[in-house]
Amino acid sequence: MTSKPAYQNLELQPIAGKWREGRAGRNLDVTDPFTGESLLKLPMASREDLDEAFRSAQQAQTEWAAMGPSARGQVMRRAVEIFDERKDEIVSWLIREAGSTRIKAEIEWGSARAITLESASLPGRVHGRILPSDVPNKESRVYRAPLGVVGVISPWNFPLHLSARSVSPALALGNAVVIKPASDTPVTGGLLLAHIFEEAGLPAGVLSVLVGAGSEIGDAFVEHPVPSFISFTGSTPVGRNIGRIASGGEHLKHVALELGGNSPFVVLADADVDAAVNAAVVGKFLHQGQICMAINRIIVEAPLLEEFTQRFVERVKTLAYGDPSKPGTVVGPVINAKQLDGLKTKVATALEEGASQLVGGEAQGNVMPPHVFGNVTPDMEIAREEIFGPLVGIQSARDADHALELANSSEYGLSSAVFTQDISRGVQFAQRIRAGMTHINDMPVNDEPNAPFGGEKNSGLGRFNGDWAIEEFTTDHWITVQHAPRPYPF
Ligand code: NAP
Ligand code: MG
Repeated sequence: MTSKPAYQNLELQPIAGKWREGRAGRNLDVTDPFTGESLLKLPMASREDLDEAFRSAQQAQTEWAAMGPSARGQVMRRAVEIFDERKDEIVSWLIREAGSTRIKAEIEWGSARAITLESASLPGRVHGRILPSDVPNKESRVYRAPLGVVGVISPWNFPLHLSARSVSPALALGNAVVIKPASDTPVTGGLLLAHIFEEAGLPAGVLSVLVGAGSEIGDAFVEHPVPSFISFTGSTPVGRNIGRIASGGEHLKHVALELGGNSPFVVLADADVDAAVNAAVVGKFLHQGQICMAINRIIVEAPLLEEFTQRFVERVKTLAYGDPSKPGTVVGPVINAKQLDGLKTKVATALEEGASQLVGGEAQGNVMPPHVFGNVTPDMEIAREEIFGPLVGIQSARDADHALELANSSEYGLSSAVFTQDISRGVQFAQRIRAGMTHINDMPVNDEPNAPFGGEKNSGLGRFNGDWAIEEFTTDHWITVQHAPRPYPF
């Protein structure tokens, strides 16, 4: 792999085609969640910056969309090469800025790269239709056109990938994009992508990044008249508010809302216990549980409860936690002290509510050791709420129907998993789970660039990846041609 000089001047943002400081007059201090070290002081973007970014995006979009599909695909392919050339630099930022373990950072680098590679093929896959018409001599066509300018708001947990899975397809399909990354992860959630795409030949102004607090510039970002589509990934409360503002009356924009989850992991009585334990450990503790698809509830059919619990607990006790940059670490720091406090409260509540702690330990810095609770019932907070940390509760199900009832007793419906050696039974069970995604004999954490990613219920609206990204990031335009005068009724 060629080693290139790392990107410089990361305190600057690409706004309206120029790399410059934000003009809000305040700095964002970007810190390493494990060491607490300050990585960067970034002058934040103002409302004026936001306005400039959207207006220049609107101008730049027309020319970008007019470039042929191959030319747009070529920018994506070049970006993929840069992902490869700069793998170490990208992985290092994911470790330092997002507190990713090396394992997670490499997975995330791979996912962002994969969706960018998939995006290279999207420009050539867009197609319109010619429809039959009841009107004599009418040709009825449906064109698929880019939306125009897309606003992307992303979270801090998989910042690079969750920005890239909107940014890469949206750009490839001829849109311009403005990203507002999470305040914990402005580099991995936005600035690195902007550098990569600039180096890959994306014309100036087509992609801007605005670093600013959601609570300060979030509403203005969503309400700005230019973006006709807001792609938001984050928590359900913020997502609801965005849905309300973006398409609740005054503004009528398209939205994609990829929100919280509470994934059930169901182990039926005929499951392969070793396989289930292996999947549960990774599906729960990858990125210290800070994944929307992470296992939030383990539900085990009664005959296997004891055996599963014992083997799961044994494995969890062996997981190395601490410094995320060490290759063997599987549980690193949670993103910040506020998240840690929330998790400590969840532990205290679980104990108060009568759960029994099977694995635990004191947090050091922002690192919370893995926690496992037994005797969990569906009314307890750790079962009802999204945890987003290295804690999990195990519930007992009387039989498969009860397991299904428990699995479905959540306001969320993002991902899910069921273990059984009877595949037909697994498929029937999966079809009865109300969720966007269900994996049989695997963990609920799965994302592939060509498969529909998204949720039901309070987990959101819309689907990402492959053909579904074409649906999301383009719109239909019905255009008809009357080839000869038609008879009108008057
Ligand atoms: P969050 O607090 O909702 O923040 C997400 C993004 O929204 C950040 O960029 C944040 O900016 C911004 N934001 C905050 N308030 C806003 C407002 N009023 N208007 C516009 N934007 C605003 O979520 P998070 O804590 O970063 O991420 C964790 C959540 O994301 C979890 O619930 C998780 O399940 C969900 N998630 C879902 C998926 C999925 O695909 N379904 C994937 C990953 C994560 P600031 O950082 O500046 O506040
Ligand atoms: Mg930080």
